[in-house]
Amino acid sequence: MEAVSACPSFSARDYKSDVKPVWCPGCGDYSVLSSITKAMAELSVPPENVALVSGIGCSSRIPAYTNVFGFHGVHGRALPIATGLKISRPELTVIASGGDGDGFSIGGNHFMHACRRNVDMTYIVMDNEVYGMTKGQASPTTAPDWEKSKLTPEGTGINPFRPLVIALASGANFIARSFSGDPNHSARMIAEAIRHPGFSFVQILSPCVTFRPEQRDWKAGIRQAPVDATTDAARAARRLMTDDGFNIGVLFRGDRKPFQPSMKARVESVRDLEKEFRI
Ligand code: SF4
Ligand code: MG
Repeated sequence: MEAVSACPSFSARDYKSDVKPVWCPGCGDYSVLSSITKAMAELSVPPENVALVSGIGCSSRIPAYTNVFGFHGVHGRALPIATGLKISRPELTVIASGGDGDGFSIGGNHFMHACRRNVDMTYIVMDNEVYGMTKGQASPTTAPDWEKSKLTPEGTGINPFRPLVIALASGANFIARSFSGDPNHSARMIAEAIRHPGFSFVQILSPCVTFRPEQRDWKAGIRQAPVDATTDAARAARRLMTDDGFNIGVLFRGDRKPFQPSMKARVESVRDLEKEFRI
């Protein structure tokens, strides 16, 4: 279990800040914010023991709307910041969050290596298959035939990035999907992800009602994954390779040991190098 200090007396409201979100009315991210605070309340982790790190984009504003320690970072770099934080402060519950453009394009390399490294933290991606903040360009998860962006009037013509497959192949220890239209389910997935040791990845389908209004129809296609979780990576891979993107639930639970190097040993090693090279 990730570093969660039990304390029974918190409600979701205790994790919300007084900053009013500036998201468009109807944006799915409101609901994800609510799910994150509900998950925190379920785990009863004191707000001062949580750090929420984000990159850049509409959904990356989320740390400002919570009452936990937050870091609104650099585009695509939420994961390396969160990794460094967790390694130096293992007692904290560390969550990284952001969108599909931030996490899978500029942050794509960090995503793969965070899965591989398996540091004990949780990554929540609010996926709306578009760059919303910069007014509706195709993102890595956009379908090839989406023609509404001025930059890709004939569609992207390229296969979308498949984050859950990449996460599994790269070594993520927990993989789940949820839908912002079902905030209780999302809260449950987030809480389970935080409880599970190692790198946990939760994709939350979160409609951009402004640039992808057709995503309001996602609700009709959402279904519970046939079997809630498997610990068999080969079976999870078969399922994810044929997945249409609308199965929600825990799709993989691994048992890899989290990576938690000793900072003391590393600092001593750097000091030795400094002496050797007289830096
Ligand atoms: Fe949400 Fe899209 Fe508006 Fe951004 S542009 S706040 S993702 S609805
Ligand atoms: Mg997006």
